[in-house]
Amino acid sequence: MSFISTTTTILSSPIEYLKGVGPLRGDLLKKELNIFTFGDLLEHFPYRHLDKTKITPIAQVNMSMDYVQVAGRLTDFEIVGERKGKRLIAHIRDNSGTMELTWFQGINWVQKMMAIGEEFLVFGKLGFFMGKPQIVHPELEVRTQANAVGKSLLEPIYPTTEKLKVRGLNGRSIAKLTAVLLPQIHVKDLPENLPESIIKELKFPSRYEAYCHIHFPADQSQYDNALRRLKFEELFFAQLRMGMIKGNRHRFSKGIVFDKVGDIFNDFYNHHLPFQLTGAQKRVLKEIRQDTARGHQMNRLLQGDVGSGKTIVALLTMLLAADNGYQSCLMAPTEILAQQHFNSLSKLLSEMNVSIRILTGSTKKAEREKILSGLQSGDIQLLVGTHALIEGVVQFKNLGLAIVDEQHRFGVAQRAELQTKATIPPHVLVMTATPIPRTMAMTAYGDLDYSVMDELPPGRKPITTVHRYETARPSIMDFVKQEIAKGRQAYFIYPLIEESSKLDFENLMKGYEEVKAFFPEPNYYISMVHGKQKPEIKDTNMMRFKTNDTQIMVATTVIEVGVDVPNASVMVMESAERFGLSQLHQLRGRVGRGSEQSFCILLTGQKLTNDARERLKIMCATNDGFLIAEKDLELRGPGDIEGTRQSGMLNFKLASIVQDKDLLEIAKNLSDRLLQDDPDLSSAENLLLKSYLLLKKGKTEWSRVA
Ligand code: ADP
Ligand code: MG
Repeated sequence: MSFISTTTTILSSPIEYLKGVGPLRGDLLKKELNIFTFGDLLEHFPYRHLDKTKITPIAQVNMSMDYVQVAGRLTDFEIVGERKGKRLIAHIRDNSGTMELTWFQGINWVQKMMAIGEEFLVFGKLGFFMGKPQIVHPELEVRTQANAVGKSLLEPIYPTTEKLKVRGLNGRSIAKLTAVLLPQIHVKDLPENLPESIIKELKFPSRYEAYCHIHFPADQSQYDNALRRLKFEELFFAQLRMGMIKGNRHRFSKGIVFDKVGDIFNDFYNHHLPFQLTGAQKRVLKEIRQDTARGHQMNRLLQGDVGSGKTIVALLTMLLAADNGYQSCLMAPTEILAQQHFNSLSKLLSEMNVSIRILTGSTKKAEREKILSGLQSGDIQLLVGTHALIEGVVQFKNLGLAIVDEQHRFGVAQRAELQTKATIPPHVLVMTATPIPRTMAMTAYGDLDYSVMDELPPGRKPITTVHRYETARPSIMDFVKQEIAKGRQAYFIYPLIEESSKLDFENLMKGYEEVKAFFPEPNYYISMVHGKQKPEIKDTNMMRFKTNDTQIMVATTVIEVGVDVPNASVMVMESAERFGLSQLHQLRGRVGRGSEQSFCILLTGQKLTNDARERLKIMCATNDGFLIAEKDLELRGPGDIEGTRQSGMLNFKLASIVQDKDLLEIAKNLSDRLLQDDPDLSSAENLLLKSYLLLKKGKTEWSRVA
């Protein structure tokens, strides 16, 4: 729990030593909020402030207000009720109106303050009784010259927990602790960590001021400036840290050199490439060629929406490796995907003299041994496979390139394992079809080189997406029938949010029966795939659909990412309101892969939340995965986005990559500029930065791979 500094300062003092805390509350603060030290409390930021700077005329008080401050003369008061119903009711009046104040407790004490005609400053949570505004248990203060214009104060409210509230530490009372803490902290305890030039350029308050003002600002703009600076720190240091990891890899990692484009690549490119590359494919290939020629390890993330043509980029890169005398491997998360890759690559290479094999968990022993020895002798140039590929026994003669497809199903540890397959680490290309918004990529993958394929091959027909209610099911079934009559295939997708959910499973089975009733054998055959099946059964069902033995696939979301059945042109998504945006988009990507017009039908019940409505609207409006990812991020926040790595990098305390996009861009630019001029941060001006980074050194999982 070390905060800002590891040396002993007031900030590392145990929290129980703060006046007003003590051992009991201290333990609770540790358990409930991870507050161990003075420094931790300093970094426990308020989530809002009560505005006591304004005095509202009573006539203007309305239901939209939460806390309110008014000022007026006491006109009357009385004690009514008995026992538990006993309460003190008073009225104050300003020159616009009258307001009721009520106390149920501390009546004797309040009564002593009640002087008719006296002017009071009143603050509290607004309530309404029979349409009239009132405050229960307001803060009451005689209005004096000193507070005549209202107190110039924004009172901080802190995140807290139920257990802490019981111990008297609610959102407001934590402010009493920070109020005790702040005067004990001095400028020297919070030394500057940003270069003067940045502070000047962005007009930031000093670090010390920022910490004071974020808790107790004198006014809104002071708060805004403090917040902006502290957010910037988070974003900037994250960028700097990742920039340095990346820079170090570029400068110091050893990498295999692919310096020539040779016969294999050229032969394929000139004679066997079945289509013209898109501009995006060409650009990415160029980036990869630059990366791999430098003598440093490539660690590149390739993002391309479904159908953007990543496979061919993978193949061309593998051929580049082969031209330079190196082996390469392509790993897929599942057997089906590996098989699919192997089939399409073999087909592309059928007229070429390049040796390619597939190795998966189900490869038979004899074949397996042949492959293992072929890899060791170097006879096999390209290997496609699943996780089985990286088991310890698999040794290559000279692995130069590892490509990982559909990255988010691949563990970090598994990627790290790759490093053990060669003395000089192979180049790594990670391909993902989960579009990630730019801001997210900058923060979550800022330590990787990063390519985007934002262009689809020409001639694709955009998928027609519509939203329909349950009640339209019969006509939808008729529509599917027509499509099947034209020779096409259809998916019915059911939500299975939790693989173990019994209810979801029952719904799937019910759905299956329902589909079957509309599409009876022997005219129609149906495949079903779900997470509770044995892999063999799943595979068989997939294969039958692929080969068009079955016209209909009923499946849960386990349906493979990347599965390619170009003849399937209809997708019906059941209970579509239960899917997240990115997931809807990924699933939809299973259709629209052939030359036919494809359709996606989002079926929902009548009752929809606003968020669900928004998701459906976006899906019907666009096929652009990046736009959808952007919206998903806005709707759900960064924590939930699928396919992104869960790491501390996104867990900023204050900054949000959605709301603080602009600040993130600034942080990124400044970080890039700085590292360009001074990659080690060794200049006098940047020493501050460096020592701060070292102090705060976090664990980045990827630094192991990098
Ligand atoms: P993904 O990026 O989703 O993995 P694929 O590599 O599977 O996409 O490509 C999708 C389809 O588009 C494949 O059938 C592939 O042959 C085709 N394709 C890829 N690149 C092009 C291109 N430049 N022009 C035409 N078709 C292409
Ligand atoms: Mg793919």
